[in-house]
Amino acid sequence: MRKIVIAGNWKMHKTQGDALAFLQEFLNYLTETPDDREAVLCVPFTALGTLSKNLHGSLIKLGAQNIHWADEGAFTGEISGDMLSELGVRYVIVGHSERRQYFGETDETVNQRLLAAQRHGLTPILCVGETKEQRDAGETDSIIAAQISKDLVDVDQSNLVIAYEPIWAIGTGDTCEATDANKVIGAIRAQLTNQDVPIQYGGSVKPGNIDEIMAQSEIDGVLVGGASLQAEGFARIVNFQ
Ligand code: PGA
Repeated sequence: MRKIVIAGNWKMHKTQGDALAFLQEFLNYLTETPDDREAVLCVPFTALGTLSKNLHGSLIKLGAQNIHWADEGAFTGEISGDMLSELGVRYVIVGHSERRQYFGETDETVNQRLLAAQRHGLTPILCVGETKEQRDAGETDSIIAAQISKDLVDVDQSNLVIAYEPIWAIGTGDTCEATDANKVIGAIRAQLTNQDVPIQYGGSVKPGNIDEIMAQSEIDGVLVGGASLQAEGFARIVNFQ
């Protein structure tokens, strides 16, 4: 039985004060989630401490948006696994397409960050996805297969979430057809040795399309950017039927 993981990715949004205000409102809207469903908030590093102190007893798990591959050292501006786990962080996004595109992440550094997350007891959410050009050229399956095989070298598949995020669907309002996403996610699963890895869809998920997405047999959750910034809307996504 695969777990359902609904995760918000706030990206570079919300100060500590904004995060606390969101949390109070969000908890009012959240109904009790079923046991097999996990709600995760992946927030900026600066909001982790405040949220951690105020989440107690709630069903929400805390996530970060990146982790460094080394345990410590001369890496100005980076954050280690120990620093995250000390704050009660349980999940960490690794290899988001914005990090690959703007911050030089490669499959090799993504792999090293996945291993670091697992060394520190965190569950990484590995993001993979193709560009519009790659999709139009019919390369989606081969691009995703290459990312999965390079990123997962030596990674423990019993402590992992994967997010399939077509890059052209991120922040554009242009959602991938749910049935297409289902096919790609099925192909990702066929490549894994552990069939229980939850695989999410990400890219313009909102309250209006969550039901159709979650009705797909291969899709085990969603990674939500823009629509996770608003408490009522994100609660509706977490509470999908
Ligand atoms: P979006 O972002 O929901 O705003 O499209 C998804 C993501 O980047 O994880």
